[in-house]
Amino acid sequence: MAKIFLVGAGPGDPDLLTVKALRLLARAEIVLHDSLVGAEILALINPGAEIVDAGKRCGGKAMAQGEICRLLVEAAGTGRVVVRLKGGDPMIFGRASEEMAALRGAGFEFEVVPGITAACAAAAGAQISLTQRGIARGLHVLTGHGAEGGLPAHDWGALVRSGGTIAVYMGANTLPGLAAHLIEAGMAPDLPAMAVENAGCATARETVATLSTLPRGLRTLAPLGPVLVLIGEAVAAADRRLAVLEAVPVG
Ligand code: SAH
Repeated sequence: MAKIFLVGAGPGDPDLLTVKALRLLARAEIVLHDSLVGAEILALINPGAEIVDAGKRCGGKAMAQGEICRLLVEAAGTGRVVVRLKGGDPMIFGRASEEMAALRGAGFEFEVVPGITAACAAAAGAQISLTQRGIARGLHVLTGHGAEGGLPAHDWGALVRSGGTIAVYMGANTLPGLAAHLIEAGMAPDLPAMAVENAGCATARETVATLSTLPRGLRTLAPLGPVLVLIGEAVAAADRRLAVLEAVPVG
């Protein structure tokens, strides 16, 4: 049986762990987790396991990916049951390729356990379908954070032409630039857009706006947790849901 696992922890609510992830947390002998994994999930780890915070920021800097890979290979070498626990899904903006390469390079076999990614948690919470017949024929999963810390050079025109829903990870800081690029490339400024903080958690908060007004809405929200941005016609359903909620008399 495999002893090294790259496991998705989902968006934060322990109820959104997979049964497999839960079983592995109970079996783990060493767990390396990133900063997105919260206390409620860490509490489910085998009490005898060693827990390593691989997202720890020493002197304001996150642990370098090379160092995490080195720790992972070192843990694998001990022969213990190793769980590398990541927020959401390991294969979406989770640096899984580097970690898998490091393990393969050192001759270790491993298994990947998927998790619920932030875009799915945000869509579920807002009750919007990310794909919709005739409205959103596809889903684009983008990072808002480039290697140099700024906005990556996406093909804005192609994104506008394809017309699907856009899910932006790591985009809270670069949202004004991202929105400006999309509008410049021809996207309608009044296209529905929303930002969700702590999607899938009890602490979730969202702001529903348009592509041009979302940067302001996000500033007002002043999020402290991770933020996922959704842009596209499909997001109009979130507006309709809010309208219904507001129409329901309280008490
Ligand atoms: N592997 C993760 C993504 C890691 S990148 C996944 O599949 O979800 C980190 C980014 O993910 C954050 O900047 C944010 O954009 C998004 N994110 C992760 N968890 C989130 C959550 N609970 N709510 C909103 N956004 C989240």
